[in-house]
Amino acid sequence: MTFALHGIGVSGGIAIGRAHLVTPVALDVSHYLVEPSRVAAEVARFQAALDTVQAELKSLHASLAHTSPGELGAFLDLHSLILADPMLTREPVRIIEERRCNAEWALIQQMDALVAQFDEIEDEYLRERKNDVVQVVERVLKVLVGADSLARTSLSRTQKLKALQSLEGEMVVVAHDLSPADMLVFKEHRFAGFVTDVGGATSHTAIMARSLSLPAVVALHHARELIAEDDWLILDGTAGVLIVAPDAAVLEEYKLKRRTLQLERKKLMRLASAPAATLDGEAVDLLANIELPDDVKAANEAGAAGVGLFRTEFLFMNRAELPGEDEQFEAYREVVRSMGGQPVVIRTLDIGADKQLDADGVGDGVALNPALGLRAIRYCLAEPQMFLAQLRAILRASHYGSVRILLPMIAHLHEVEQALAMIDQARAQLDAIGIPHDRSVKVGGMIEIPAAALTVGQLAKKLDYLSIGTNDLIQYTLAIDRADDQVASLYDPLHPAVLQLVAGTIRAAGRAGVPVAVCGEMAGEVAMTRLLLGMGLRQFSMHPAQLLEVKQRILTSSRADCEAQVKRILRAEEPDRLRELIAALNA
Ligand code: PEP
Ligand code: MG
Repeated sequence: MTFALHGIGVSGGIAIGRAHLVTPVALDVSHYLVEPSRVAAEVARFQAALDTVQAELKSLHASLAHTSPGELGAFLDLHSLILADPMLTREPVRIIEERRCNAEWALIQQMDALVAQFDEIEDEYLRERKNDVVQVVERVLKVLVGADSLARTSLSRTQKLKALQSLEGEMVVVAHDLSPADMLVFKEHRFAGFVTDVGGATSHTAIMARSLSLPAVVALHHARELIAEDDWLILDGTAGVLIVAPDAAVLEEYKLKRRTLQLERKKLMRLASAPAATLDGEAVDLLANIELPDDVKAANEAGAAGVGLFRTEFLFMNRAELPGEDEQFEAYREVVRSMGGQPVVIRTLDIGADKQLDADGVGDGVALNPALGLRAIRYCLAEPQMFLAQLRAILRASHYGSVRILLPMIAHLHEVEQALAMIDQARAQLDAIGIPHDRSVKVGGMIEIPAAALTVGQLAKKLDYLSIGTNDLIQYTLAIDRADDQVASLYDPLHPAVLQLVAGTIRAAGRAGVPVAVCGEMAGEVAMTRLLLGMGLRQFSMHPAQLLEVKQRILTSSRADCEAQVKRILRAEEPDRLRELIAALNA
């Protein structure tokens, strides 16, 4: 039976393919009652899985090279101890025997109980050990479930997404949620699109989908329950609609729509080499946002004037060890070289909130409000050795082209001062060992917290340039979690407070004589282009996939008209009036 689900379209375009359900471990493990006569066999199956994992850990330990860091052996020992602990060996057996739950279900219940106990622990180090428990349990589950049923059950979504690569192309991924780290897998393996039950329009997952030109709809709420594996799906990322089990006529109609969209995209490619300027001759810089070095290819194809935001945290995700200075240096140099002398803005690590590392426990759900916690510059200043290594890597890359450093999530002047002192320290460290670097590297700050937007004059005295991160600026101004679908309807880029902060920042930067860009999603939305032009913005940084559409809009806009109309918009107090004026501006 055909039916449609409505959510938030976060990445435009049409995808047509078969459904592939990707789910977190607890939802995916089968739950069933064991026949009384099979209970002893179920216990034996569970104990055999424990033995297998114990043997695996021992053999991993034995295979460690002499040169391996000592922590690795200690880590395996810790997992062996956890695995042998009665909390994992006895309690699940009791659940199997008394409640006749299958082994996987019994183990998941015990894991949930242990995780809840760990969350109560005050000592941060001990609290973090819950990750070890989860990892050990996942190893046991993997053995219980068996490798060949991976396509049905997901132990790690990343693993599963990777396992599905042979099926990619005509496949729409259906998940309860996907993390920005999962999206890195999407970069490697093309799927037709994805839908999730939860999520917001400017979550990092949504941003990644746009960067991949991957149609996506989030906040569908019950998609996972209503859709079966292999169902035919039509995903309209522009309208935010998912059609399940379409009939032949609907399928044909959407295939035609998809073809038309593909042709329009192809036509836009002709603008790649045209200079970006308004009808009245005002030049505008259109720069690219990237997450990984490979993205520069798309930036160059779209004719970007440089990289306006390199979100370096994506180099740090989905891996057991953080990248060292040399590895980072290679990645930054690759981008700088590929951009052939054009500016490359490298943002220092913005980890925290919805961007988590596998390699350490930052955030890990223990912070009550991770978006307000130890994120971005706060995290970097709290981890000086890691920050210095990144700064040295960026400075080393500056020798090979035009590099700028960008500091995320600035709220206080002292954060800028501390970061500048650390940049000086990194410079001195390189000088001491004779490594060349560009001595005039400019340092900028992100304006993405209202406190920063309201003190631009002060910050501009210390910084060489500014970049407005509208995604977080909206989140922090309106107190709306950008990744939470339940409040997504209140996430409003056109809220008068947001417009005042953006316009005020551009004005204040102008008065202070420092260049200002917008690198949040607002810069890549055609419906916002004239508004930002009218506010005086001349540098827009966005995903390459959005660049040519924005260029087309600039080529058909007059700076003088935009400025006059935006003055009226900024004076409008009534939301309806404001929207009317914006509609007229975009007409
Ligand atoms: C922003 O907040 O607008 C921004 C560009 O940074 P990110 O989306 O990576 O938080
Ligand atoms: Mg941000």
